[in-house]
Amino acid sequence: MKTVPRNKVIYSFSFRHKPAEHVKIGEPILIETEDAFGGQIKTEEDSLDELDWAEANGTTGPLFVENAKSGDTLVTEILDIKVENQGAIVTIPKNGILGKRRFAASTKIVKICNGYIHFDRGVRLRANPMIGTIGVAPESGDIPTGSLGKHGGNMDVKELTADTRLYLPVLVEGALFAAGDVHAAQADGELCVSSVEVASEVLLKFSLIRGKRPTWPVLETRDWYALLACGENLDEAATFATEAAVEALMRQYRWPFEKAYMFGSLAVNLKINQVVDPKKGVRAVISKDLITLDSLLI
Ligand code: CA
Repeated sequence: MKTVPRNKVIYSFSFRHKPAEHVKIGEPILIETEDAFGGQIKTEEDSLDELDWAEANGTTGPLFVENAKSGDTLVTEILDIKVENQGAIVTIPKNGILGKRRFAASTKIVKICNGYIHFDRGVRLRANPMIGTIGVAPESGDIPTGSLGKHGGNMDVKELTADTRLYLPVLVEGALFAAGDVHAAQADGELCVSSVEVASEVLLKFSLIRGKRPTWPVLETRDWYALLACGENLDEAATFATEAAVEALMRQYRWPFEKAYMFGSLAVNLKINQVVDPKKGVRAVISKDLITLDSLLI
């Protein structure tokens, strides 16, 4: 199987990057990812002051997906995420949702074994490996991998786990896909700005949908679809997620706006992805009983 090593790292999504690898549709590919600190924090003595932030939040790639053309949808099937047996969590003064409060820089290393994060003596929680940053190159310019938008990026969605599919718009030939910033566990919000940041191996497979694109990245699980919107603040993110969901319901049922808007109150769940990245993220979740993929693409 093709493997992309974790030293094939990029710090922006851009058409300018040379592909790290070419991938065919349906071909499984393994990508190794470095943790969000660029592997610089291995012990609790590793200080944030000495961290080279230029090496933070890298993604592995980009992958040139053969035959992917602008206007298509890139479907990424996440087959497996294997995380290493330890991860790092940090507090960074002025960061996170409580950034106005005074607190110290601190580092915590946690062991991950038998499916659990061992946070403290007698305090453990179930591991839930997920991909924090995943996206494609935008039509023009460079978007830092720490940011997020319609191309994907640093979305930090806790549901973006193995056995899900992500639908992203293809904006340049080959899509130039990259992923990294895997978390062994994260809750909705990602309150302190860091999760269990961990190196990983991600097994993926791609397919394409021709001539249709999602307005925002779409996540598919067994039971539901979610539109992954973001905005300057939570209100804006919630508005964008709702607009996209209501428009999808209008397409699904050929309803006028008012009827779809009403139905949205009953059928669309807004959930917070994260409140700590350069843009805030909200997902609009709709049961597969009520919507088909076709209505989520235009
Ligand atoms: Ca992240």
